[in-house]
Amino acid sequence: MAIFPRGNGLGPDKIAADVVVIGSGPGGAVTASMCAEAGKFVVMLEEGQNLPLESAPHFSREEILQKYRNAGVNIGFGAAKIAYVEGCCVGGGSEVNRGLYHRAPEAVFDRWRSDYRVDALSLSELTPHFAACEKVAKVEYLPGPAPQLSTRLEEGAHRLGWACLEVPRLYAYATDATGAPGRKQSMSETFVPRFLEAGGELMPDTCATRIARSAGRWTVHARRSNPTDSQEIELTAKTVFVAGGAVQTPLLLRRSGIRRNVGDSLRFHPMLKVVALFADEINTPGELEPVHQIKEFDPRFSMGCSMSKRPALALAMAAHPQMMEAVDRDWRRMAIYYVQSTGGIGRVRSFPGFRDPFVRVELSPLDLKELAEGLTRLAEVLFAAGAQAVYPSIPGYPVLFSPADIPKLPQTLPPKQANVTTMHLFSSCPMGEDMHKCATSSFGRVHGADNLFIADASLLCGPTVVNPQGTVMAVAHRNVTRAIEDRAI
Ligand SMILES: Cc1cc2nc3c(=O)[nH]c(=O)nc-3n(C[C@H](O)[C@H](O)[C@H](O)COP(=O)(O)OP(=O)(O)OC[C@H]3O[C@@H](n4cnc5c(N)ncnc54)[C@H](O)[C@@H]3O)c2cc1C
Repeated sequence: MAIFPRGNGLGPDKIAADVVVIGSGPGGAVTASMCAEAGKFVVMLEEGQNLPLESAPHFSREEILQKYRNAGVNIGFGAAKIAYVEGCCVGGGSEVNRGLYHRAPEAVFDRWRSDYRVDALSLSELTPHFAACEKVAKVEYLPGPAPQLSTRLEEGAHRLGWACLEVPRLYAYATDATGAPGRKQSMSETFVPRFLEAGGELMPDTCATRIARSAGRWTVHARRSNPTDSQEIELTAKTVFVAGGAVQTPLLLRRSGIRRNVGDSLRFHPMLKVVALFADEINTPGELEPVHQIKEFDPRFSMGCSMSKRPALALAMAAHPQMMEAVDRDWRRMAIYYVQSTGGIGRVRSFPGFRDPFVRVELSPLDLKELAEGLTRLAEVLFAAGAQAVYPSIPGYPVLFSPADIPKLPQTLPPKQANVTTMHLFSSCPMGEDMHKCATSSFGRVHGADNLFIADASLLCGPTVVNPQGTVMAVAHRNVTRAIEDRAI
């Protein structure tokens, strides 16, 4: 498996390629594998390490330290602060996420087309691209019954007459001939191996710091690190795809002097969590991951169940310190649930001398009200599911012991104590023909720049409403297909 660039006569710190892809998450990995399969010499840079899925247990502290950016601690500042997480390893977010999979609904694409003037982006036009990605990264439903903490949500929704569904995952559940269990279909298991088989060169531990154009080619300046040392390298290429994710892509572009509609419109799915306590044990170690989501209130907000291991429960209960002993004792009767909306906007800025970006976020009074209503609905469904108590993960919030307590919840979320988090970030460099709003063309080419493309969640024009990875991959597949047809690579 070639993971270091082959010599090309330029010396170890200078590499000439046809295509450089910056970032190996879902957007970058799909793009790089398609370019390599088209016969081009492609180098894919990845700031994080190249680690197998099993290098750490899923959702463990070790995994967070190995595979998350800044050990999972990133803050968007504003009246209501938002804590966000990003993957930072070969495969990006796909390595650390649960792979809950949706094709974004038709109404989402209709809105992007009309608001951003995106050409040829209907659900039917994207369907072959979703299907092509699903052939490589398998999407399957659980092979058996869902875990109880997941079915409880379904039972509650059923009692209230709300729409609830089991969401498939990027996962191949079937055991293989040797009896080994199935595998998560992250990028390191799917598109990255495809890329390597097609002759692509992967450079992990390598961070692109700036890109520049001269003499009709792009130069990517990068820093390659190992535990004791780091080395500056330069790559030149006809074409560059930037796919560092919705925060890092605008950071790199702005640092490189490319700023038009870049980093001005970050969007996300803001999330609030609660811990529900049940009478019986619903949280069994080793069970499959929860998969049910309530869709009754889409596109305003949706609800689901989070991974609810003991350390995660302790963290989610931090707003109720008197409950820490109860977590130790009763954690098998507890599970974490969330409500997730589509409001909020942010900006990404770079400052000289700082490695990390400055991210500013804003939740409007309407966004805060919507989240507060979502929290109320979440409490309703959990009591309908048989919860004995609901503990909002928000400092100062009351514990709810029955539906009669629900009116105690504030009708709007106080911004200072909101405790909002997010894992779904997008839209920082939207695609489309509206030159006042869009950073790239309808197919991801940066406006005003030859052969420079964006190929990740930054391109999406707004919230996907559903989990975004499927849409990130399909849009990347669509855009690189067009770039290949146009001979832009
Ligand atoms: C904990 C978690 C759970 C999630 N759960 C789900 C889920 O269940 N379903 C779902 O659909 N989505 C989920 N998501 C979101 C999903 O993972 C993202 O939408 C998706 O990974 C975005 O893909 P991307 O290619 O835009 O960027 P990323 O996945 O963020 O990949 C970008 C990669 O580029 C690298 N990079 C950045 N800058 C540079 C640079 N300058 N040089 C070199 N490399 C660079 C980064 O290290 C990273 O590996 C989750 C995300 C997280 C973090």
